[in-house]
Amino acid sequence: MSARILDGKAIADALIQDIKQQVEEQRSAGQRAPGLAVILLGADPASAIYVRNKRRACETAGVLSLSHDLPAETSQAELLGLIARLNDDPQVDGILVQAPLPGHIDAATIIEAIRPDKDVDGFHPYNIGRLAVRQPLLRSCTPYGVMRLLHTTGVALRGLHAVVVGASNHVGRPMALELLLAGCTVTVCHSATRDLAGHVARADIVVAAVGRPEMVQGAWIREGSLVVDVGINRRPDGSLVGDVEFAVARERAAWITPVPGGVGPMTVASLLQNTLEAAKRH
Ligand code: NDP
Repeated sequence: MSARILDGKAIADALIQDIKQQVEEQRSAGQRAPGLAVILLGADPASAIYVRNKRRACETAGVLSLSHDLPAETSQAELLGLIARLNDDPQVDGILVQAPLPGHIDAATIIEAIRPDKDVDGFHPYNIGRLAVRQPLLRSCTPYGVMRLLHTTGVALRGLHAVVVGASNHVGRPMALELLLAGCTVTVCHSATRDLAGHVARADIVVAAVGRPEMVQGAWIREGSLVVDVGINRRPDGSLVGDVEFAVARERAAWITPVPGGVGPMTVASLLQNTLEAAKRH
């Protein structure tokens, strides 16, 4: 069997068009456009590309993008000061601080400083906690995007065995909570997991979020499963590769996401969706 491709790019483009229409409706009802403040520290080339994509998507959707490009040596106190001002700014519905942050800044402190109702990345412990107790508000963008991709397959998720490979705070853990909320039986694998291949081989759904090129081998994939590759790894020649051995996995899976063009665009669409929802509440 050759898997059907979960075309994240096309699905995300359609979602952004839908958001655009909702923004237009709000504006014709006399409301202001949703506002997203995007903070970028330093000149990491990958971060710059992610931020550019987010700003472009804002433009397409009619969301006001407010740029704060700061030098890498910005102090934590200065960054906290900016976040405090944005928290109080009525034009700003969402605040995004692009990761990774320079080593002298404590990411957890920064995330907690963002007002939970403006935490459109869905990283604040309040929003992760809401998801854990089955009352999500602003949901972590990548897992939220993955769920929307999975729903487009039309496969009933309830009761399926999902294996998440990776347990980071911003991807693996909220991903496991999303799948649990959808009624899956969830296994979370991490660096201390024994027999990763065995876990993956028992999965109806595999979500790979490790950050190691093709570490999930195609031969591990169960026939007919749904495979979602969150990983974005750059090869020496500059091309991108996921965490799943795509060429082999696609011969076994029923559905699979490509890299690039799978989860990445869905993350951006979720960010805009969160910004719109935050604006509606504000
Ligand atoms: P992190 O480095 O924060 O986390 C990696 C996770 O993988 C950790 O939980 C780690 O375990 C686990 N891990 C490491 N080695 C193994 C192993 N041998 N077996 C099983 N698990 C292992 O990465 P992120 O979560 O930030 O990102 C993962 C990938 O997803 C990256 O490629 C990143 O670029 C990409 N990404 C893509 C996004 C998108 O929109 N498409 C958005 C965000 C990230 P432990 O906890 O024990 O250390």
